[in-house]
Amino acid sequence: MATVNIRRDITDPFYRYKMEKIQSKIEGKGNGIKTVIVNLNSVAQSLARPPAYVIKYFGFELGAQANAKPTDERWIINGAHDASKLQDYLDGFISKFVLCKKCKNPETEVSIKDDKIILDCKACGQRTDVDPRLKLSTFIVRNQPKAGKKEKKDKKARREAKKAQANGTNGTNGDDASPGDSNGSEHDDEDGDEALEAPSDDEVLRQANAIEADAEIADDDWAIDTSAEAVAARTKDLSADFNRAVVLDDGDDEADGPSSYEELGSWILATAEEKGSVSAVTNDEIEKKVKELLIESKHKTCAVLAQSIFDENIVAQIPTRAKLLKSLITSERHEKAFLGGTERFVGVDHDSETRQTLKKKIPAILHGYYEHELVDEETLKAWGAKASKKYVKLSISKEIREKAQPFLEWLENAETEDEDESSDEE
Ligand SMILES: [Zn+2]
Repeated sequence: MATVNIRRDITDPFYRYKMEKIQSKIEGKGNGIKTVIVNLNSVAQSLARPPAYVIKYFGFELGAQANAKPTDERWIINGAHDASKLQDYLDGFISKFVLCKKCKNPETEVSIKDDKIILDCKACGQRTDVDPRLKLSTFIVRNQPKAGKKEKKDKKARREAKKAQANGTNGTNGDDASPGDSNGSEHDDEDGDEALEAPSDDEVLRQANAIEADAEIADDDWAIDTSAEAVAARTKDLSADFNRAVVLDDGDDEADGPSSYEELGSWILATAEEKGSVSAVTNDEIEKKVKELLIESKHKTCAVLAQSIFDENIVAQIPTRAKLLKSLITSERHEKAFLGGTERFVGVDHDSETRQTLKKKIPAILHGYYEHELVDEETLKAWGAKASKKYVKLSISKEIREKAQPFLEWLENAETEDEDESSDEE
């Protein structure tokens, strides 16, 4: 595959930073014509940036729709754009979002502090700012894996610290070898990482298959208690949980009554009971109900759905719900709520025997979320690195993350080296 210097103004053939030349393919015709960037993963990896940044940058520059979250790894821009033009635009991306502003070296890491994008240069040690007025800057800040406003973080950190004190724990998942987790701070923005898309090498594939195989085996020994009493009991528990989740969420800025969420959850469970199985409640019906309740944009909706649209066969059900979920999980905050709901589903909503079995499936569940792009790699890593009391008791939250380790390790190993060097502030 033809390579080119990351800085094309440097003609030195021994320049050490290289990337593949952009390869594109025009597909369709008329209004449906589009450009597929065949090797975007590889190019983005050479730049140590997520492919979503690059495709979005192209989209902004060309004034064209670009899908930053493709379901099938096909990176598409609407319209016909030839590779050499895209290569020229890529120069702009590199100069604005990759090269150190001081020494022009491309070996930089992105971190975001107070909605400012900072490039941390490995070569000269300078930290320089990216122009915040660029459209892609806004996209990056809005889609960062870590929580939003600093003020809110501080508030939450204080709250966590207070709770942790009361419990005599340090409030973090200290047992796990999470990178950069040497201090007790609740918030993981010190990681400063912008994780790369995983390269799909054989080892990754093998592990993924192993996880899937495990899941299939595990799915076989299921005997669900579908008796009316059991379902009624679960419905009751679940309603109580929705209430509690909403109460816990009260400090947030998304204000609306608990009743809509409770109504959604109860409606799904009741309909499932009526039809004999939750799988019989169709995506269209659920979507219609969500819209009817006017909560299709709410992150809490994602938590409720994680608790209500699956049963013990969740691993096999994820693909059938992926499209519906993708249309509702629209930000990092939604992703986190969806994971929180999953914690409740796995760790709270069922009897203890069922919970045990569900916990064994956690790696496969998370893998399913990742595979169907319901939750970003960065969000999954941030989630895995810190236990939280937001949705379940801290002890349950910790246990769930312990069970998630095989998946989290797989995710970790699927990326390039020197990713783990966290940049410790002061
Ligand atoms: Zn530098």
